[in-house]
Amino acid sequence: SIAIGIDIGGTKIALGFVDEQGRVLAKSSLQTDLSVEPSVMIARIADEVKLLGEQHNIALDGVSGIGVGAPGPLDTKNGTLTCPPNLKSWWGFSVVDELKSHLPLPIKMENDATAAALAEKWLGAAQDSDHFVFITISTGIGAGIYLHGKLLTGATGNAGDVGHMIVDPAAGTCTCGLPGCWEWIASGTAITRQATELLGRPVTSKEAFELASQGDTQMSELVNRVFAYIGMGCVSLINMLDPNKIVIGGGVSQVGTPLFDAVRSYVAKHALNPSGRETVIVAAQLQQDAGLIGAAALVQQPY
Ligand code: ADP
Ligand code: ZN
Repeated sequence: SIAIGIDIGGTKIALGFVDEQGRVLAKSSLQTDLSVEPSVMIARIADEVKLLGEQHNIALDGVSGIGVGAPGPLDTKNGTLTCPPNLKSWWGFSVVDELKSHLPLPIKMENDATAAALAEKWLGAAQDSDHFVFITISTGIGAGIYLHGKLLTGATGNAGDVGHMIVDPAAGTCTCGLPGCWEWIASGTAITRQATELLGRPVTSKEAFELASQGDTQMSELVNRVFAYIGMGCVSLINMLDPNKIVIGGGVSQVGTPLFDAVRSYVAKHALNPSGRETVIVAAQLQQDAGLIGAAALVQQPY
């Protein structure tokens, strides 16, 4: 049967119909309009889903359910978004109930990184693994944890909020108020911030990597430090969870080989036990439509 996937983000909302093989049959996206009430945004999403179904001759009564991927912190027990930093106007909003009032179908909602992990298991880089961690290094850092053939979601769906593991308390205060969180030091936002401070002009994380590869000393030092911190976070996750694979995605992972080489060598050297040091570190495979497919996976795949 067919599932509806809806990926809610701070700048856009991707939605579509996805079949049992993970094929996207039809898709669309909407700008996340932060100037209107979230209930208005949900009504727009439902209208767009209905329109898309009509345009592609997909009857809603042939749809088995709706999967929603949303930014955390959230509460999947109540179907609410608790306090996601990029969706302040949605804090406390009941996404699942509101959506159900427009589209009366079974609805599953999970943290977006958790949903992405399930998509990598279903169709991507983790198909062969029953014990892996998916890490996204983007605006922030998040993870989806898959162990013993199941997603580990926690009591409220917030398991894997690894961006706020403390890796260096001396490195300044994270937006969450804690000292030295992983994402304060090693996310795309963090690279941009540190590069801008060092060069005294606006520098994107992409440009920081380019300058480093051209031999710029300050940017090389920054990039190597960030890679080491990414390695440290991976080692902590390996020591804690004993995965046999780590899948890394998100904008920063686009830098490719230098990052993967650095993280592999860090893990091979510093993970606590021999099997941990052998953990396979690979790039995420789902790029286009990853969020949408992850959301639909919540309906199409057991977890
Ligand atoms: P989002 O966080 O909205 O999911 P992305 O996964 O694209 O978006 O992550 C955005 C972050 O990744 C930004 O901080 C950006 O600077 C960084 N980024 C995006 N593309 C690249 C790239 N090719 N190289 C390095 N950093 C990148
Ligand atoms: Zn933090």
